[in-house]
Parts: sequence; C-alpha cells; structure tokens
Amino acid sequence: MAEPTVFDLSVAGRTGVTFPEPDVPETALPKGFARSKLQLPEMSELEVVRHFTSISQKNYAIDLGFYPLGSCTMKYNPKINEVVSRLPGFAHTHPLQPFDTVQGNLYLMYTLQEMLKEIAGFEAVTLQPAAGAQGELVGTLIIHKYHQDRGDTQRTRMLIPDSAHGTNPASSAMLGFDVVPLPSDDRGNVDIEALKKLSDDRLAGLMFTNPNTLGLFDENVCEVVKIVHEAGGLVYGDGANMNALLGVFRPGDVGIDILHFNLHKTFSTPHGGGGPGSGPVAVQAHLADYLPDPVVGIVEEGDQDHAPLYDFITPAKTIGRIKAFHGHFGMHVRAFTYIAMLGQEGLRDVAEKAVLNANYLQEKLKGTYTLPYDRTCMHEFVLEGYWKDVPDIHALDIAKRLMDYNFHPPTNYFPLIVKEALMIEPTETESRETLDRFVDVMLKIAEEARTEPQLLHDAPHNTPVRRADELKAAKDLVFCCYPVEEWDLK
Ligand SMILES: *Cc1c(COP(=O)(O)O)cnc(C)c1O
Repeated sequence: MAEPTVFDLSVAGRTGVTFPEPDVPETALPKGFARSKLQLPEMSELEVVRHFTSISQKNYAIDLGFYPLGSCTMKYNPKINEVVSRLPGFAHTHPLQPFDTVQGNLYLMYTLQEMLKEIAGFEAVTLQPAAGAQGELVGTLIIHKYHQDRGDTQRTRMLIPDSAHGTNPASSAMLGFDVVPLPSDDRGNVDIEALKKLSDDRLAGLMFTNPNTLGLFDENVCEVVKIVHEAGGLVYGDGANMNALLGVFRPGDVGIDILHFNLHKTFSTPHGGGGPGSGPVAVQAHLADYLPDPVVGIVEEGDQDHAPLYDFITPAKTIGRIKAFHGHFGMHVRAFTYIAMLGQEGLRDVAEKAVLNANYLQEKLKGTYTLPYDRTCMHEFVLEGYWKDVPDIHALDIAKRLMDYNFHPPTNYFPLIVKEALMIEPTETESRETLDRFVDVMLKIAEEARTEPQLLHDAPHNTPVRRADELKAAKDLVFCCYPVEEWDLK
C-alpha cells in the first residue's frame, strides 16, 4: 500500500499553531503577494513532527553507513566542526558588519588562506568560490585574463584529458574556450605524444586532475607541466582529489599554476544535500593579482601588544567578485577546525590511510571484478561493473543491489573511459571491519549475478523508492508535489 502523503493526512480546520487575537486593525494583503487558494495540508504539530522525522529517516547519509561514492570523498564529518561553526561569534555575525568588529572572523579566514597555501604549495588563495565547479570558473577566468593582458588573444584552446570530471569541459566552454580532448595512455596517464602535438601558440591551458579520476597518480606530472609551460599555456589543477596528497605532495611545487580545493571533500565540511559547498582557489605568485575581489589580508602588522589588523583587500588586476559577500563562511570555520584539529602529522595520516584503504579494497576485489588499470591506486580505483559471461548484468544493477545490503553505491558510469565503471573511494575514516563487510557483499553480488540475476535487475528491494525510471525522470520532470492554484494577480 502506498504511504499516505501529507495531503492525505490533512483534516480541514486542524492546526498546529494558535495565534493570539490581533491587537492592530486587520488589513488586506497587497494584491499580487498572496495566492487566493493555496493548498497546504492542515495538521497538528505532532503530525508535522512525525512527518518530517519519518522522511529524514528515509535518506541515506555518511552518519548511517559506508558511502564509497568515488570522486566525492564522503568521509566522516567530525561533529566538533559543527560545534565550532555554531559558536555565536561565528554564527551571528553579519557580512556587512564594520571590519573592526569581526577581526576574529577575518583572522580565521586569513589563517585558512595561509593553511591552504602551505598544504598545496601556492602563493595566494581566495575563499570565495561556492564549489569546485565555481573554482574552475575562477581559474579559467584567470587564465583568460592572463593571456588577454599579454596580448596572447589567439590562445583559445583548453586541453581536457578524457578522464576528466564533466565540470572541467563545462567550465572551459562557459568561458568560450575551445575544449580539446586529450587522450590517456594505456597506463591511465596523460598521453605525452598527444599533448606535445596539441601544445602550440593556440594553447591557453590544460585542466589537469592528479590523481586523476581513475585514482591514478600521473607519473609524468612534471613533464606534462613543462610541455604546457614551454608552449606558453597555464596548468589548472583540479584539486578535488587532494585527499590522496595531503602532507605528501604539493601540486604548487611542480609548477601547477592554479588549483581549486573542495572543502566539502578533502576538509570534511558536509556535502549538505546540495547545500553550501566551498571551493577555494590557490594561485602562484604571477597570478595573485587576478584573484577575485576581495581577499583577506593584513593591513597593519601586529606587535607584542597588538594583534595584526585584518581587512578585505582588492587584488590589483582582479577578475572581479564572483560570489556574494565572502563565500560560505560557515564552511571556512568547519575546514579551519578540521585542519587545526589534525595538524601537519594528522593531515599526512589522512592521505596515507585513504590510499591504504583504497588499495586494500582494490586488492580484495580485483580478481572478481575486472580492474582495467592494474596499478597501485591512490585514494580510489575504478572497476568494470560487468562480466563477459553475464552480459545482461550492468554496473547499475550492481550499484542498486548494494543498497539492499545497506551500502551507498559507488559512482557509476564515470569516468567515461572505463566500460560500465564502478568508481570506489572508501576514504580514511572507515574501519577494517567495514571494508571487509563491503568486500564480502561485493563478492556475494558477483555470485548472485550468475545464480540469481533477477535479484540484481529488480534491486533495490528495501528502499522507500524502488528503482527509478531514469529516462522518465529526466524527460518528464515533476517539480511540484501538490496542485498549484492560480495566483491572485488581478
Ligand atoms: C567533485 C569534483 C569536481 C566538482 O566539484 P563540485 O564541488 O562538485 O562543484 C570537479 N572535479 C572533480 C575531479 C571532482 O571530483
């Protein structure tokens, strides 16, 4: 039986609030501001609480179970971050407050900029971008302006490896760059010969993800950067995979020009169900003047009696403001807390354990599932989600069947260069026992694929919503769950 919706539960006249009698004269709402007939469910407070509590329990979350969603770094979000971000001094400030009343917040932003510079080896950082993709937009805007300023206006090509995340070509295309795909070689690295052929005076830059989305560290990173620089281009580093590198490798040290971070991946700020992310961007010294306006700087040095004075500063050749106010400050507080709690040693430990966990799973699964690039992986790896002897089982069936065992599925059908891809990223926060349970389930599903394939085709069996018709969902969008009455615009 279908579960009742809030509209089925509605009883005319039932209410959860009682307003006092008004002590001012009643006036009509201005025309055009209210709908004459708005169908809202009429329910008591208890029923509303039960409704929301019940739907909150239908979601899967990192706080409920293993979430090996490759490329997304679904690590545990330590609760101390939440506590700190809710301190009144952080939570209750207004972005338009005079700067001398928010010196603590500015100190935090400045220090986070410094921490990120040190972690990745760069000279300057903006905290403004709201996500990795917006960081890419900032990076490509900077690349564009840099070439314009040098009169290099014929540089219109952006090279994007064929393993790249979809946001890379999208960001470049939004800026009007010609997106040129760059093939990978048979070890999963950028194809050096192809790169050389494409590196000429039309080259604006290369968007380079390392480790790439196969979970592989590009063995030729130094050569790749050198080739692009010699041709006059810039290298944009997609830093979404920094979790593998913390304390071990700094992209700035090998000459990468620009890099975005995903605070909501590497630095444990929540992915927030589509809510605020944060994608700070770091640049080398020669690009610092192009950063979005403003960055946080010291305007008066401190001494033993006075703390330094912080304020917002406009970089000389700035690409302009790209986000309202100062980015997602609550995320800056959480990431700052995470980094401060771990310290230098702790961050390196994160990367080492993330890589260890991924290699552990890869070793355990690679006999049963095909591993197309059989190398030591970094923080994630990509399997093929199909077998030649059971051709009607697909990656999607395996992913959906995992839900029956209370695991979130891996990323599937990405990267595009692996057939029926299953991209698995365990992160460092999972225990050996959880990894072993996941291995057991993956091996069991491989067996079920042969013995009881219908179990996989019909999965998931226990979720509130069974397998969605993805084609219908994409083609026949329903935005609203209740009937919309006409607006009173007369
Ligand atoms: C997640 C991701 C992005 C995009 O970041 P968002 O914060 O989701 O916009 C870009 N590149 C890679 C490799 C990613 O994993």
